[in-house]
Formats: sequence, structure tokens, C-alpha cells
Amino acid sequence: MDSATAAEFEPVIGLEVHVELKTKSKIFCPCPTKFGAEPNTQVCPVCLGLPGVLPVLNEGAVELAVMAALALNCDIRPSSRFHRKNYFYPDLPKAYQISQYDHPLATGGWIEVGAGASRKRIGIKRLHLEEDAGKLMHEGSIETAARSLVDFNRCGVPLIEIVSEPDISSPEEAKEYLQVLKSILQYAGVSDCRMQEGSLRVDANVSVRPTGSAAFGTRTELKNIGSFRSVVRGLQYEIRRQIEVIRAGGEVLQETRHWDEQREVTVALRGKEEAHDYRYFPEPDLVPLHLDREWVESVRLKLPELPEARKRRFVSDYGLPEYDAGVLTASPSLAEFYERCVGLYGRGEGRPKTVSNWVMGELTRFLNANNIEIEEARVTPSHVVELLRLIEGGSISGKIAKAIFDRMCETGEMPSQIVRREGLGQISDESEIAAVVARVIEENPKVVGDYKSGKAQALGYLVGQVMKATGGRASPGLVNRVLRERLG
Ligand code: ADP
Ligand code: MG
Ligand code: ZN
Repeated sequence: MDSATAAEFEPVIGLEVHVELKTKSKIFCPCPTKFGAEPNTQVCPVCLGLPGVLPVLNEGAVELAVMAALALNCDIRPSSRFHRKNYFYPDLPKAYQISQYDHPLATGGWIEVGAGASRKRIGIKRLHLEEDAGKLMHEGSIETAARSLVDFNRCGVPLIEIVSEPDISSPEEAKEYLQVLKSILQYAGVSDCRMQEGSLRVDANVSVRPTGSAAFGTRTELKNIGSFRSVVRGLQYEIRRQIEVIRAGGEVLQETRHWDEQREVTVALRGKEEAHDYRYFPEPDLVPLHLDREWVESVRLKLPELPEARKRRFVSDYGLPEYDAGVLTASPSLAEFYERCVGLYGRGEGRPKTVSNWVMGELTRFLNANNIEIEEARVTPSHVVELLRLIEGGSISGKIAKAIFDRMCETGEMPSQIVRREGLGQISDESEIAAVVARVIEENPKVVGDYKSGKAQALGYLVGQVMKATGGRASPGLVNRVLRERLG
């Protein structure tokens, strides 16, 4: 499709995000929620839906949900209630999910995305509490599997569902919304938001309409999105597909589609169900949830500093550029790591910016390459600061520091130890350097001639040769001085 055609249409996107709350036990029973246990070992009659049992609401889950809602600028409803959402699927042993329907916990929130003039609010329509279902494992692909296995450990893990307004206008903006949302929820301490472990899951609703039109087109809902990258890819594919359907004179069907990660296409899964298909009715075993103002305010007081505030503080306290502050505060663990480094290294003489360069550059590159979070790495603020001191004190060059960075992160060995063991320390012994300089002068008569006849930049080449001969270990300042002396 050419871009002129694509510009005739604009996408409209709304996201439904499910987030597992960090409680120790499930929402209606005392079973543990720990991730990664043997299948079907964290279950009881309540979460298996056996007859004759009663759910008891976990107050901790309510508190975390309220915390999340406050962090997302929502209004907490003084009274909400639970409904049964009825459907049959093998991962749902009760054949209904306890969820919230027409009286959700919170409504009317927002978060902000974009920078500068293109800063924009994305509305949050509602945030409600519900229980998670079990997990199906298909042998092969969902379409062709001969057998599927079910693990009920996840049944009854507390979830919040966060439904955005259809305010998102591109796949990239959808990704940014998710990044900001994840960051806020991690800061608020309500969830670890690990998409790869399923503690943050996204369904994406998307439609297209003639550019500038006020009415919405018919939407499809994408499921099985496994990463932020897939959100972008899946939405891009789906937007293209819908435009092609319309241009061919067809009609977009309202349906649920499955994102096929391998083939990078969406496939129709089922017609979109309507609310009445679920036969929602009030959960008779739970009383309505009344939250008094004072309690809500006491939760608000427990809210920690959120990413926006921390970003502003990084700019004002450390004199960092906004860009740095944004990158460093995206996750609370990275922000804490940075602050601990500055705490050790000190704030004078551009030090906070030096730390920022290393954390945003080498450290982030290492974490991304290994697909881990900072708390999973063996590197600590002491490692980074010792490395910076070695550079500052002239013991090693920045180049050597970069070369040993990954090893330090992987093994947890202190940089000074690596430098000592591998003999990487900077050569600042003048006689040692003078010997190399003499050899380089001897081997490069033409360049030396150029320098002597006034070509100042020839010196740079000679410095380079000395650095090369010493494996980057010579102190550049010293090399410069000795060379100038020898060349007269
Ligand atoms: P339902 O109750 O059918 O799930 P909602 O009104 O709660 O529908 O919307 C679900 C999600 O779909 C929300 O995130 C909303 O922003 C989004 N949405 C609604 N209409 C559209 C549309 N026409 N195009 C894209 N997204 C939409
Ligand atoms: Mg919905
Ligand atoms: Zn249980």
C-alpha cells in the first residue's frame, strides 16, 4: 500500500491491559501466587471451583488495586461490586470469572505520553478488579494442537484490568502508553509487570476511519500479544489489513483476532462477544465493596514518588538533561541504581552526568543484550563507581573500561581485580612509553617529516600508533607530551 493511500485513513486504538497484583495469596482463597511452581500445586477447592465453597475477598488485593487507580489519576468509586462473567473454557474451572461489571472500582483516569508540544493525555475509562484464569499450554500452535494441558495455579490470582479510552492514534503511541503505564505500576509497587511471565497482558482494540472523520470505524480486538514489540507489529499489520478490506469495497467485521508471532499475521479467532453473551449477574457470595474516603486517603498517603516526579527531581537535583532523566527513571530499579551510584561517586564536577552516560550507555546495553533487569545482574553501584574512579585516576582508559564492562557485569568481579589480573592498567611509566615512542618515530619517517614541516595533525597519527602498540594502555596525555619533546 502506498503512503498516500495510508494517509487517507487514521487508526483509532484502545488498550485493555491486565496486570497481576503482587499479593502473596490469591484474591478469594489463601493459595500462594508464586510464579513458576509445578503445575497444579497451588490450588484449593475455592480456586478450583469445587461445590460448597465460598470466596473471601483479599483486602491486600483491594489496597493494591486502589493504589494503582490513584497512581493513574482515577476516581475511586465509593461502592463497587463483583459480578459473575459466565463462559465455558477449559482454563476456567467454575465456568465463570468473578469480575466487576457495571460498578467498577475506579473510573476517569489518565496518563500522559509524548514530549514537549506533542505531550498528550490518554484517558483511562475504568479500572476494575477480577480473578485470573488458569493457563493452557497448547502442543504446537493453537490452531493445530492435538492436545492442550491446563495449569490451574494461576486461577484466582488477583488482576486489575485497565481499559483505556480510544485515544491512542498510532502503534508507536500504543507502545509508549504501555511503557508509561508499566513504569507507573512498577513505581506504585502493585505489580512487577513482567510481560514474559504474563503478569502484564495486553489486548489491543483497533479500527480505522477516514482521516479527520469523527465517527469510529468497526474495531477488531487483537489477542496473544507477547511483547511491546508485538503490540507495534500486530497493530501495524491489523491497520494495513483493515484499510485493504475497506479499499477493496469490503467491511471490517467486529471480531477477536489472534496475533501469530511466527507468521506475523492476525487470524480471525471468533466473532466479538457482546456483554449479554456473558450472562453477567451479581456475585451472590460477595457483598458490595464499600470503600470509605478516609481509608482511600490513607492509601494515597502510601503512594511513593511516581516516575514523572522522579524525572523532574533528576533534572533539578542532578542537573541532568530531560532525556537522561526520562531514560533513568523509566524503571524504579534503574533509577535507584543510578541514585546509589551518584551517592557513592559524588555530585561535583559533572559527575552525575558521567554516571548517567555509563548507566544509559554501557549498562543499559548490557541489560538489553542479555534481556535482564538490573536486579537480575551481578553488577552493583560499587562496581560502576570503582570503574569510574579507575578512569578518573588515570589507571585505565575509557576504552579499557568499556572493554571490561561486560565481564564485570557478568561475573560480579570488581574492575580493579580484572585490571590487575589481566595487566590492563594504564602505562604511566615515562621510560616505558619513551621506548615505544622512539620505535614509532623510527618506523614512520614520512609522517615525522610531515610534522616537522608544519603539518600539526600528523601528531595525531603518531599518538594513535603508540596507543595501538600498547593495546590502548598508554596514558594519552603522557604519550602526547613525550612525542612533542622527542620531535622537538
Ligand atoms: P467492550 O465493553 O465491548 O469490551 P469497551 O467500550 O469497554 O468495549 O471498549 C473496550 C476497548 O476498546 C477500550 O479500550 C476502548 O477504548 C476500545 N475501543 C472502543 N471502541 C473502539 C473503536 N471503534 N476503535 C478502537 N478501539 C475502540
Ligand atoms: Mg472489555
Ligand atoms: Zn485456592
